[in-house]
Amino acid sequence: MNEKQIENFYKRIDKKEDHECWNWKSKIDRYGYGEFRYVQNSKRYYKLAHRLALSFTGVDVTGKLVLHSCDNRKCCNPNHLRSGTHQENMNDMKERGRSLKGKKKPKFFLKIERLTSTETSKTHNDSE
Ligand SMILES: [Zn+2]
Repeated sequence: MNEKQIENFYKRIDKKEDHECWNWKSKIDRYGYGEFRYVQNSKRYYKLAHRLALSFTGVDVTGKLVLHSCDNRKCCNPNHLRSGTHQENMNDMKERGRSLKGKKKPKFFLKIERLTSTETSKTHNDSE
């Protein structure tokens, strides 16, 4: 990207205080992430705004996820962004309990229930 494109990029960010969320003001993709489009060598590029925002601070995000600490997908504040692996993202979700949002019982509980009930019927059969 050239300087002009980078300038255009920053114009689309609603920059606020360091600790606040800097929302992307332009196009939002269907997952809720900011999307930046530019043309280079007559090729069109579609980039995720928060990834660009972090990479412009000198962080190498190649092959990595860019994670939001604020859970705001539109946010482009590098202070709220860090690069990480898919596994780290999953751990993050677990810690915040988001993976249990469906209110389903965790699999191992179901397993225990099933084991217990088989054992009960076995004992019952034996006594007959
Ligand atoms: Zn934020």
